[in-house]
Amino acid sequence: MGARAVAREAATPADDGRTSVADFDVLVLGAGSGGYACALRAAQLGLSVGLVERDRVGGTCLHVGCIPTKALLHAAEVADSAREADKVGVLARLDGVDMAGVNAYKDGVVSRLFKGLTGLVRSRGITVIEGEGRMTGPTSVTVGDRTVTGEHLVLASGSYSRTLPGVEVDGERVLTSEHALSLDRVPASVVVLGGGVIGCEFASVWRSFGAEVTILEALPRLVPSEDEACSKALERAFRKRGIGFHTGTRVEGVTATDDGVAVTVEGGGVHEAELLLVAVGRGPHTDGLGYAEQGIELDRGFVVTDERLRTSVPHVYAVGDIVPGLQLAHRGFQQGLFVAEQIAGLDPRPIDESAIPRVTYSHPEVASVGLTEEQARAQHGDAVATVTYDLGGNGKSQILGTQGFVKLVSLVDGPVLGCHLVGDRVGELIGEAQLIYGWEAHADDVAPLVHAHPTQNEALGEAHLALAGKPLHAHS
Ligand code: FAD
Repeated sequence: MGARAVAREAATPADDGRTSVADFDVLVLGAGSGGYACALRAAQLGLSVGLVERDRVGGTCLHVGCIPTKALLHAAEVADSAREADKVGVLARLDGVDMAGVNAYKDGVVSRLFKGLTGLVRSRGITVIEGEGRMTGPTSVTVGDRTVTGEHLVLASGSYSRTLPGVEVDGERVLTSEHALSLDRVPASVVVLGGGVIGCEFASVWRSFGAEVTILEALPRLVPSEDEACSKALERAFRKRGIGFHTGTRVEGVTATDDGVAVTVEGGGVHEAELLLVAVGRGPHTDGLGYAEQGIELDRGFVVTDERLRTSVPHVYAVGDIVPGLQLAHRGFQQGLFVAEQIAGLDPRPIDESAIPRVTYSHPEVASVGLTEEQARAQHGDAVATVTYDLGGNGKSQILGTQGFVKLVSLVDGPVLGCHLVGDRVGELIGEAQLIYGWEAHADDVAPLVHAHPTQNEALGEAHLALAGKPLHAHS
């Protein structure tokens, strides 16, 4: 019997003996990273799938998140390379940044991926139901005057940009990341409210494009959920690039000026700029969708689930940004796959949140997986060892002209508990770090593995050599 047949047999009829009258085996509300991944996998497993979407398949990540921001960051890198070309003896000059051209490039990337994704959804036989959906029964969603039912319902309605009291977003001078992505000019100056991932990425882009940038962050450091050493390194690098920032600074309000905004902070300081970007995090999009009315348990707007992503209502699951935890596309994908496989009767392994890699794609990048030193010490006290390998000793990083480090957090004579990286392009190294963490490798397991020379990847190898007590290009 093939996998398709096995999956069908497991999924229908419903496991509580209900007679199947549903339109679909799986009905998914929201076609972002979490929702479409679930739909694709469920269809692959032979289940019939309805996918409700009010906007475009692909959601935040594809249209106004990961992909367009990374395209801007790539354009920013090209601008920096042109600006600094003489450092490597190349005669090039940065004459300016044409935002129409940058946006055309960015939109081209998004539209190619969108085309590919819609083709994929179609080819798997998924029924896309266009329109605003609302949960109107235990596993039903109403779209306009049509009600569709699934044997199983997957909530995947995503998130929205939050703001603060006293900070009114108008889309003209006070922007969210959505507005910032369609800006048709490089602003002369910007205040970025929030020094987390999104705030630091936009600050990095605008600085590379020539803007004056100031970040205001309420917590004591930039990228505050990262290991403190990474925050310090990013702050040093940003300072060097002329990106201003004030940590431990709370914003009280914003007023319009003749040519921009004046941002008032606690204690009386005022920061003026042409634009204010509000990047204070994302809230779960669950209000007004009928969830609470249908008995779905919510906590501050997030959908409460168990580790198998089941909600408080039988046969209803939740995935993506509406589930408390890291709001990242690849977490949404994995949750979507997990739920599809679970519905199909397979036995997928619950997702370990701390094994999910995190990357801030600024210049320089910050990438991490596992526990920070502070978290490891809180759990394991003195049994924790750390090693920091400076990219100063890494040939490829020197060729690229980037500074940073690899920091490992480990149990003494035990597995690696966390890996933290700073430097240009280090986001590409997190895959190996993730395997090391996920497979609970010890330094001695990694030290004998050969890393190609000269790559930045070698820095990971060197850090593990040092952790194993036999550093090569580093002092013992
Ligand atoms: P979403 O992608 O938000 O999808 C939800 C979908 O549901 C949307 O398409 C929406 O239209 C639809 N929907 C909502 N309500 C209804 C309704 N009532 N009826 C019908 N349809 C509905 N993550 C990374 O991993 N890497 C990055 O580099 C990264 N960069 C980011 C940059 C920015 C600027 C932003 C804002 C986010 C970024 N993220 C990044 C986060 C990532 O985009 C999200 O974690 C991811 O999109 C969440 O997926 P989701 O499926 O939960 O929700």
